[in-house]
Formats: sequence, C-alpha cells, structure tokens
Amino acid sequence: HLSVHPSIHTFSHLSAASPACTELETVMLDWLGKMLKLPEDFLAGTEGRGGGVIQGTASEATLIALLAARSKIVKLIQADHPDRSETDIISKLVAYSSDQAHSSVERAGLIGGVRMKKIPTDNKFSVRGDALQKVLEEDRAAGLIPFFFCATLGTTPSCAFDCVTELGPICNAEKIWMHIDAAYAGSAFICPEFRPLLNGIEFADSFNFNPHKWLLVNFDCSAMWVKKRSDIIGAFKMEPLYLKHDHQESGNHSHWQIPLGRRFRSLKIWFVFRMYGLKGLQAYIRKHVGLAKDFESLVRADQRFEISADVVLGLVCFKLKGSNELNETLLKRINNARKIHLVPCQLAGKFVLRFAVCARTTESRHVQEAWCHISHLASELLQELPHLTTVVGITC
Ligand code: PLP
Repeated sequence: HLSVHPSIHTFSHLSAASPACTELETVMLDWLGKMLKLPEDFLAGTEGRGGGVIQGTASEATLIALLAARSKIVKLIQADHPDRSETDIISKLVAYSSDQAHSSVERAGLIGGVRMKKIPTDNKFSVRGDALQKVLEEDRAAGLIPFFFCATLGTTPSCAFDCVTELGPICNAEKIWMHIDAAYAGSAFICPEFRPLLNGIEFADSFNFNPHKWLLVNFDCSAMWVKKRSDIIGAFKMEPLYLKHDHQESGNHSHWQIPLGRRFRSLKIWFVFRMYGLKGLQAYIRKHVGLAKDFESLVRADQRFEISADVVLGLVCFKLKGSNELNETLLKRINNARKIHLVPCQLAGKFVLRFAVCARTTESRHVQEAWCHISHLASELLQELPHLTTVVGITC
C-alpha cells in the first residue's frame, strides 16, 4: 500500500512506517557480509553491535566513515581535555590514504574540512606499514592528530591492494579509524580464491564495496559495514519533533547516512541473489577474471607491448614499449575508432592503457576481437611513427 501512496516520500525514511525496507536491508547486508566472510563483528545478526547499510556510492561511504571518525576522535579527546574546543581539535586532525586512492577520498577530506595526506606506495602500488608509520611519527611530532586512514583494496588506476595486514595493527594501536574502500574489487571476495585479498579486514572500523560495479546489482547500491554502528549513529543522529514517534529503534538507517529519505534498494540485492545464487555470482566473477588473464596472455605474447601492473582481477594495465606520446596516440586512435573504449592511467610516470572486463555480456570472442583491433591500430601507428619505439614486433 505504501509503495503506491502519493506521500511515500514523507514516510519512507521512518522505518516504523516501512519496516520491511529496514529489515530486508539489514538481512541482505548480513547475507552479503557472510558471502564475503566478513568477521562476525560487522554483522548485525540479532544482537550484534555492527551491521551494514546501503549507501549510494563509495564516495558517500568514505565521507560517512571520515565524518564518523572525526566525531569520535573529538569526543575522545574532549573526554580527557574538556577545555579543548572542537574547532581547535579539528584544525589539528589529519587523515591519510594511498597515493593511488580514488579522488573521492581526497574529496571526503575536503568536505570534512580536515587535512588529507597521501602515503607513498611501493613498487606494487601498495601502501606498506612502514610508510604509514613514518608519516605518523612525523605528524605526531609536529603536533598533528592522525585520526583516519582509508586503505584501498583494488585501486582505480591498477587494481593494487594496500597491505591491510600491516596497516591495520598500526591504525588500531594509534586509535586511527581504518576504512577500507574496495569499490570495485570487493565483489571478487565472494570467491574463496580471492578472499585472502581481504585479509586484515578484522582490523578495520568500516568497509565498503559497490555491488553495482561488479555484482550484477543495478546502480545505485554501495554496501557499507561498520563494526560499531553506534560510532555512525552517534555522529549523525538528529531527532527533531517531527521525526519522533512511539516506535523509536536503533535500526533506522536514516541515522547512518546524509539524506533522511531512503529507497528500498535491498530488493535489488534480493532479486540478484535469488536469480544467480552464490555459485552463479562466483562463476560470473571467475569468468571475467579468466577473460582478463586471456587478454594479459595476448599482450605478453606480443613483444611490442608490456604489462604495467600485476593482473589480479578483471583489469589489465598495458602499454606499447615506447614513449608516453606513443601510448597517448594509440589510446586516441582506439577510442576514436569507437569499437571499444579504454580509460588510461599514470603509473610511475608512465601513460598506461587499461583494459577492464566488466560488462555482463562480455565473452571470449569480444576479448579476442578487442585485442586484434588494438594490435592492428598499433601496427598502423608504429609504421607511421617508428622513431617513438625501438621494438620490431608481431601483428595479430
Ligand atoms: N573508490 C574506488 C577504488 C573506485 O575505483 C571508485 C570508482 O571508480 C570510487 C571509489 C568511486 O566510486 P563511486 O562512484 O561509487 O563513488
């Protein structure tokens, strides 16, 4: 009845008015959490202190985590130093992420009004414990207050993984909130063979990935879990008179997000689970990873090209051996031809092409065709601009 009622907008934010919306979301996020083998702490269960919520995007999840962490550290410091003002504390706060983190992390710092520093990565584009430790020591010595670290599992440029088994214990010891952004890669953790990539999650305070990226759920659906939901609710709960009623409960997801109103997004997850089942979803992920590995083999077999980063999931970073200019021209020709579309990145100063397998209908023949197309355009280019490369190679 409510779903066709013209005043749905008035009611949908109150879980008392639409309890199925809140309840199904809690259950779906617990199911999904179990599929990822998240530690029990992150599940709501019946008595758990953690739980999941659907946000619109990974950007929102990072922002929510940062704001909750900000609120928590301010309260913690004021408990010991009641004379310190919130403004004074916030002016000293510093948040961290990988130098490979998505721009949304930097933006969260911008919106949250805190300093944001990028931690340098190693030769695998991964943040290691010693790199974070070094910056923390320098910042504490300078009188700053480290309070938030956003680790990335599956970075946007190259799908690299920060070393959360090293970073987590440091964050826990230093009372720094660790958020894990696995926007793309998170879907793969439902497969036992990829689950080790999530090791160290037990140290995190919050975790997020986008089922709308790679788990067949339509946009928007970004799944976020917290170990202690009181941290989030404590930061965002507002209860004006017009929202008070006789059935107040802590499960109201409006307290976990920026907007008040909510959509019934968990139904989308429910339908996908019912249609594919865990095995079907695992097969889907494995197929894409297999296709990416096939593409990697094709690239490796052509001496004119090189692979630019480890291929772990469905993304292949590759380039022609030669200058950035050469690769920029190749990308332009590929995208101008409008048969396939590639998005580039910079890795260690090199202009790199990214081949991402992510469409539901992608088959092996599409990957073969894409490679023939790329290889053909590369041959044309190298004939025209031989001075930009040193390698004589094979064609498709
Ligand atoms: N984090 C990572 C690692 C990403 O790759 C992306 C998008 O590509 C995002 C965050 C931003 O995702 P959203 O559009 O859900 O905010």
